[in-house]
Order: sequence, then structure tokens, then C-alpha cells
Amino acid sequence: MTTLNLKEIFESFDVFEKSYVLQPEAVGFPAELGDIREPLEVFVKITRERNGYKVHLSIVGSVELECSRCLSTFSKDLSQEREKHIERYPTEETLSLSPEDLDVSFMEEPDIINLEELVREELILSVPMKPLCKPDCSGIHHHAYIFEEEKGHPTDPRFAILKNLLSE
Ligand SMILES: [Zn+2]
Repeated sequence: MTTLNLKEIFESFDVFEKSYVLQPEAVGFPAELGDIREPLEVFVKITRERNGYKVHLSIVGSVELECSRCLSTFSKDLSQEREKHIERYPTEETLSLSPEDLDVSFMEEPDIINLEELVREELILSVPMKPLCKPDCSGIHHHAYIFEEEKGHPTDPRFAILKNLLSE
């Protein structure tokens, strides 16, 4: 676990910048969403702001997903640049959330952040609800065509093309 104690860090620095390589096990990405197989490269830049901190995250990496139509696995690039604000839980008087607050993580102790948790949160948000191996994936019914062909039906040239595509 990579814990950053910002209170301590900002006692001696005004800006915190560091690169990390996070192992898949450490990130703990939910297996039901996908499988991260390669280490992630993460660059963090943190600055202080009025109610907490501004965290700039630059993530390079990919996840193996299962296509929701054809069930094949494919690799999706999750590389991204994100800016997050980490603030103390709002008090009763200041509690009025606006759409911009989606970029805000409220924490009991905003001075202590867990890098893996932060990265995991961003990655989960960037996995599509219905992953597709390619935008025009036409699903598993391809197998039905091949089955027909094997039974000795006249071979439609389109099926041959499909078969070649599938065996790639
Ligand atoms: Zn597919």
C-alpha cells in the first residue's frame, strides 16, 4: 500500500511530484470488471488548495475485459489524465453539492491518501458498462454460421471471411 501523508509532505514542500509503478495485486481491481495484468505507471502531482488538496493523476496501463457481445477477451487502454480534489467532509452549513463535486473525494482525513485506492477508483470509473471488443462487434452468432457451413451447406463467401476473422 502506498500511503501519502500530505500533512508531513507539505511541511517541507509546496508541490509533491512522484512517479510510481503499481503492481496489479496492489491496485486490487475488481475481478468481475476485468483483469489488470501489467503494472501501471502512475505519475502524481499534488498541490494544496483552500479546503484540501488538488491531485493530478496520470495513469498509463490497460485492462483485459470481456466483450459483452461476443464474450472474447480484449485489452482496453485505460491511460488517462485526471484531476481530483480531496477535501475534508463538508460541514452542515457548507453542504451543497454541485455537478463539479463529482471530481471531489471527501475524506475524514484528507491529509492521508492511499494511492492505490485513488487509482482503482479512477480505473473503475473508466471501464465501460458494456465493454465491446470493437464498436461494431456483431456478437456470438458467428458461430452459428460456421456450424451451418460444417454441416455441408453451400459456402457463402461471407462466411469464409468471417471464419478467417474469427480464427485470427
Ligand atoms: Zn466482441
